[in-house]
Amino acid sequence: MRIGVPLEIAPGETRVALVPETVGRLIKAGFEVMVESHAGERAGHADAAYQATGATIAAGARELYAAVTGVLKVREPVAHPTLGAHEADLFPEGSLLVSFLAPAKSPEVIEKLAARRISAFSMELVPRITRAQGMDALSSMSTVAGYKAVLMAAAGLGKFFPLLMTAAGTIAPARVFVLGAGVAGLQAIATSRRLGAVVEAFDVRPAVREEVQSLGATFVQLDLTDQTMVGAGGYAKELSADHVQRERELIHKHVKSSDVVITTAMVPGRKAPVLITEAMVKDMRRGATIVDMAAETGGNCEVTEPGATVTKHGVTIMGPVNLAASMPEHASQMYSRNISALLNLLAKQGELALDFDDEITKGCCITHGGRRLLDATGKPLAGGDGPVAAPATPAPSKVGV
Ligand code: NAD
Repeated sequence: MRIGVPLEIAPGETRVALVPETVGRLIKAGFEVMVESHAGERAGHADAAYQATGATIAAGARELYAAVTGVLKVREPVAHPTLGAHEADLFPEGSLLVSFLAPAKSPEVIEKLAARRISAFSMELVPRITRAQGMDALSSMSTVAGYKAVLMAAAGLGKFFPLLMTAAGTIAPARVFVLGAGVAGLQAIATSRRLGAVVEAFDVRPAVREEVQSLGATFVQLDLTDQTMVGAGGYAKELSADHVQRERELIHKHVKSSDVVITTAMVPGRKAPVLITEAMVKDMRRGATIVDMAAETGGNCEVTEPGATVTKHGVTIMGPVNLAASMPEHASQMYSRNISALLNLLAKQGELALDFDDEITKGCCITHGGRRLLDATGKPLAGGDGPVAAPATPAPSKVGV
């Protein structure tokens, strides 16, 4: 099997699906690898570094797609800016495609992949089970994003993060409040603690309390014992209106005394919950900073503008999108390891060998044999065939992938 790695063309994308280190391993495992010229440039890898590991270089996307039987990508297929064609129309008919596919964002692209008999695997649908941990690119990208969000806040804050004892007296440490203690939130806590801040964190899933405490942060508890907060796959469920109100009251108390608030709260397949209203922002300290990591799926703060930094009532609100792309070297290295671990499950001795009895294979194979198999949330479609119906209200996809 010859695997192709294209140059990512989605606006602002800097990552690459395979780094040379992983290419070398795949070639040893029996694959041939072809990389589009300049594909790794923004992640710190020149064409020569790929060639040194045994890969061949394609001059452009057309040359690449004409020569490969499988494609590894980072971002969902988009219209090619110079070739006058959509990437989904350029992949070889019947080939393998492994990538983040944003199935909720672009259902028509998934439809196209099915029609072109592409065996497409969606990195965001890889089951979050122990055996698939090495393939969990969502966790990798959340790790990068959680770290970067704290650095952005620290760089913009007019205060130190750590406690300092100086000749000019003692400087109190910054107070950081992290909303949502999933993978990104836990990394934000750890990074804030490493910088010396005093950290509090809140999540509707009580199970995260110990993880939060083990990182040296205080867990803020909301009594929601009358409602089960954990849904399928260990993710959070959407709260009832009454609980949202109680949650906001609790959050209000804590944001008032915080210098930095990092919000990461998300519910799969839904718009992100609004946890910080404009009235709460008004009550915050002048000079405080909010980094809303849920900006791309609607935002956890009412006044967030996705992709922008705004100042409201003296508070800076950052709404970064695709944070992982702001650290392309390590984000690509982690992604490359994740995607090649999945490829090694899908292929044996360099040849595709799909086993649909395998929980991971069937959990993330979204199109195969001319049919769409899964909906945007990874639920099997009845019969796995028929035309792809776009959801009535397209669900937001995960942030920062
Ligand atoms: P996510 O990005 O979907 O959500 C981030 C966090 O926001 C979650 O912790 C969620 O509980 C929280 N949240 C949602 N609504 C909220 C609200 N109203 N108020 C406050 N917090 C709210 O989550 P994620 O980081 O992608 O993953 C979380 C889940 O996935 C966890 O169960 C985690 O253990 C599991 N996971 C499992 C594996 C594995 O087993 N391989 C790997 C990674 C994650």
